[in-house]
Amino acid sequence: MTWKITKSQLDNEQLLINESLLSLGNGYLGVRGNFEEGYNEEFKSIRGTYINAFHDETEISYGEKLHAFPDKQQKLVNVIDAQTVEIYIDGERFSLFDGEVVNFERHLHMDKGFAERIIHWKSKTGKEAKLHFRRLISFVRREVLAIDVKVEPLQESEVKIVSTVNGDVTNFVDKNDPRVASGHAKRLHVIDARSEEKTSIVKNQTYATELKVACASKTTVDADHTYESHVNDGLVSETYLINGDALQFTKLNVYTDSLRHGEDVTKAGLSILNELKAMSFDSLLEEQQQYLNNFWATSDIVIDGDQELQEGIRFNLFHLLQSVGKDPRSNIAAKGLSGEGYEGHYFWDTEIYIFPVFLMTNPEIAKNLLLHRYSILDSARQRAREMGHTKGALFPWRTITGQESSAYFPAGTAQYHISADIAYSYIQYYLTTKDEQFLKDYMAEVLFETARLWVDTGHFMDGQFRIDDVTGPDEYTCVVNNNYYTNVMAKHNLLWAAKVYRKLNESGGLESLSEKIGLTTEEVDEWEKAGEQMYLPYDENHLIHAQDDSFLQKKRWDLENTPKEEFPLLLNYHPLTLYRYQVCKQADTVLANFLLEDESDLDTIKKSYDYYESITTHDSSLSYCVFSIMASKIGYQEKAYDYFNKTARLDIDNTHGNTRDGLHMANMGGTWMAIVYGFAGLRVKESGLYLDPKLPKEWKSLQFHLNYQDRLIKIHLEENNVSYQLIEGDSLEIKHSGESLLLEKGKEVRNEISI
Ligand code: BGC
Repeated sequence: MTWKITKSQLDNEQLLINESLLSLGNGYLGVRGNFEEGYNEEFKSIRGTYINAFHDETEISYGEKLHAFPDKQQKLVNVIDAQTVEIYIDGERFSLFDGEVVNFERHLHMDKGFAERIIHWKSKTGKEAKLHFRRLISFVRREVLAIDVKVEPLQESEVKIVSTVNGDVTNFVDKNDPRVASGHAKRLHVIDARSEEKTSIVKNQTYATELKVACASKTTVDADHTYESHVNDGLVSETYLINGDALQFTKLNVYTDSLRHGEDVTKAGLSILNELKAMSFDSLLEEQQQYLNNFWATSDIVIDGDQELQEGIRFNLFHLLQSVGKDPRSNIAAKGLSGEGYEGHYFWDTEIYIFPVFLMTNPEIAKNLLLHRYSILDSARQRAREMGHTKGALFPWRTITGQESSAYFPAGTAQYHISADIAYSYIQYYLTTKDEQFLKDYMAEVLFETARLWVDTGHFMDGQFRIDDVTGPDEYTCVVNNNYYTNVMAKHNLLWAAKVYRKLNESGGLESLSEKIGLTTEEVDEWEKAGEQMYLPYDENHLIHAQDDSFLQKKRWDLENTPKEEFPLLLNYHPLTLYRYQVCKQADTVLANFLLEDESDLDTIKKSYDYYESITTHDSSLSYCVFSIMASKIGYQEKAYDYFNKTARLDIDNTHGNTRDGLHMANMGGTWMAIVYGFAGLRVKESGLYLDPKLPKEWKSLQFHLNYQDRLIKIHLEENNVSYQLIEGDSLEIKHSGESLLLEKGKEVRNEISI
């Protein structure tokens, strides 16, 4: 039961939400869970097919445009629609909004990687048919969306199938929600639409970036039929007429784009389609199963004691896998490939909330995310220059191919911490994989350029290094001096950059990089000095880290007496109102205390948690998981569990109210983090691998695997004890609740859990 998401009723209120929940993807291609046969006037849908990183650019119009505000914004484009299949039974068009739906079931199979709908329908005039729709996006053949349909009329009938490929598509807009695009719906046009050898071909090009995308589609029907095709206004339709009993047809759609397949996208698509000739839907399904068996074997988290949460964690992991880019062209968008919220942009969500999941379970995917950031390092250098920095790289707050796409700088560009977050993820990668080659080829350059940014942004005063006018993760407090999160992350960035420099310098591997970026040893000394003297605000009254220099002097927002309908506050208050109060959208200092816990003592961590928790709205979905992890750390077990619950089913239960616009990827990673960093207490440090497990009292057991330095470790937690098993790799010493434990292959090490 926990391997599938089931909807056993057609709930019209939930249509748009279910489109996100039942979306399919493979990191390259994504499709929302739209009904093949379409909707009607009353019930609209957000019909969407996306290719990761396939984007256009639109002008940003400002009333007052100041220096270095970005002129243009990138935008993920809704591409050619190949989902559509209309079905007519004796001339009556099948629709779930007409006639009678006698039976309806819908499933997303997370172990097998496909979605299906099983329907019994009666037309207005009493004609009945059973229909079974299955669809998949292949993990093995990234360009392929396959749709398979069985139609079984319950009386002798003529069945007509109209299968279409439509290039005349637009993006979704919502003028009232800043988290969704408000304009520029149409961003691409048809440059070729034809039917050739019973294959539909549509090719589109984006307006500004002139990227090309093609869809080549072929439908095979297993019964005698007549065939006709039409081309009209970028829409290719193929009509099949079949007389008689049950029939089955499979529509194979191949999507290619000029970012990955060269300029002749049609040729590339047709050649992939040709390779698929011998593949049935079931054989694609078999490959899919094999891929997912491998994935789940090491990535699954097994909870004994709560079916709903088990379902929630599998759902979240499955969607992360479906959305994460697996080629260096792509990263993972805030909503993955499941919807258009945040316009397909990549944020710090990747590094801090999603990357860790893949790092510890599928390091190759994690590496790819880092390579994507490396590929935009030049744009980050250029952005730093635009922003007045003479040196260094400033990563864009939101982007697809490296260009800053945030128009509201206080909660956008000012979030300089993204550069330190990226550096942090490189460091975590190195600590987890010990990949020396990667350190030399990519990590050193990223760390050096981001360290340069900090030195150029901050300044020394009275023996302290201070960073003014930046925004930390909390978007309800913007453009402040000495945000604790930013400063402590910058410190880590600076000291590691210096450390990496010294290490590589000793082994003689730095010449070409030093030359390439014009590096001097004086600079490295300065990184070290800035890191060591970094000012970390601390408040003597409350014995906590101050979120920034002025935060604790502001008036506290009265959260208790704020009516429920006013949340999220961002939709109801001008930003300045929010900035004038102590009120947090999301974890900020509490997150810093998780990522760099050794910078504080436990008492400060605990007091900071208590303080900030009381003024945090969690209006951002990136918040709960951090509060869960840190509640575990300081022994607030019930809170840890409550916050965990909120992350695990956030999209399934639409608790943030905007699942319609896509799934909350960072929160999905956060669910995994709340288990692994929270309940199991994982930390990866320079001094090794740390675990400090505590099983929630509501569960009987918890089991998962970790990848660490070429080893695979299985961890099984029960009420009073935990067992560690080294499945692959050389013996390893780890720290369990502060004590050293030696793990050897083949031996299970059992230990008591100290509460
Ligand atoms: C959060 C940001 C996040 C963005 C995209 C915003 O609501 O405040 O931290 O990066 O959503 O998920």
